[in-house]
Amino acid sequence: MTISELKRSFLAELTKEYPCEEANSFFGLLTEAYLKMSRLQVALLRDKEVSDSDIAKFNSARERLLKHEPIQHIIGETEFFDLIFQVSKDVLVPRPETEELVQWILDDLQAEPKQIKILDIGTGSGCIAISLAKNLPDAEISAIDISAKALETAKLNAINNKVVINFAESNVLELEKLEQDFNLIVSNPPYVRELEKAQMHPNVLEYEPETALYVKDDDPLVFYRKIAGLAQKALKPGGKLYFEINQYLGLETEKLLQDYGFKTELRKDIYGNFRMLKGVK
Ligand code: GLN
Repeated sequence: MTISELKRSFLAELTKEYPCEEANSFFGLLTEAYLKMSRLQVALLRDKEVSDSDIAKFNSARERLLKHEPIQHIIGETEFFDLIFQVSKDVLVPRPETEELVQWILDDLQAEPKQIKILDIGTGSGCIAISLAKNLPDAEISAIDISAKALETAKLNAINNKVVINFAESNVLELEKLEQDFNLIVSNPPYVRELEKAQMHPNVLEYEPETALYVKDDDPLVFYRKIAGLAQKALKPGGKLYFEINQYLGLETEKLLQDYGFKTELRKDIYGNFRMLKGVK
């Protein structure tokens, strides 16, 4: 079977479940992962024969995609902030919105001393802490998560990306205080309300970790309140707190930070949704 025949049969099945563009992009990601070929090479070498073992890999990926398993789980890794991160069912797949939060932090730090202490709360795959570490070689970065399994993935990602992070297993909701002072605290905590599940896709609902995503409808800001309280004490004067937030709760979350005495700035993501919040102590 040639590459173009493989592509035709792959897309014929997948376009039953996905828009054409998305199915095409899956094929591109898989040819990169399995055949180590760029999109251009695939276009130029469309008559190249594909081995039986590679065809079997594509067939298995297609079956998994038809069940809406995330492409990142199938490939086992994804790109975030130009770095490669391993992912698994124990961590949230890094999202492009979160790259914008990292960029905001780095932009803000441009004019400031770089020897600072940073804490990432609910680090998951480690994508925020690790991309900050990569771009702030003089910073001392710690990261906590409630999930030991997530931390295993995060540690592996730190090693693969050649950065040092102080990881610790910890449930932020049970912390009475943070053990150290920090210049900067960042968090992308769970913020999806149960009532929002109706709008979510099966790849998230069925395959991503619930502890990383959901909060109760009657107290959706539980993590923000807890973290704001801890940060108010543990941040040095002028220290900054950055959050990824629920797009529907932008104003409430901003108000909460103001109630804790922070000066705030709310920002929208590339999709035009309120997604990031900064508080300055
Ligand atoms: N943005 C993620 C989603 O919509 C949620 C991330 C989170 O809960 N922190 O799937």
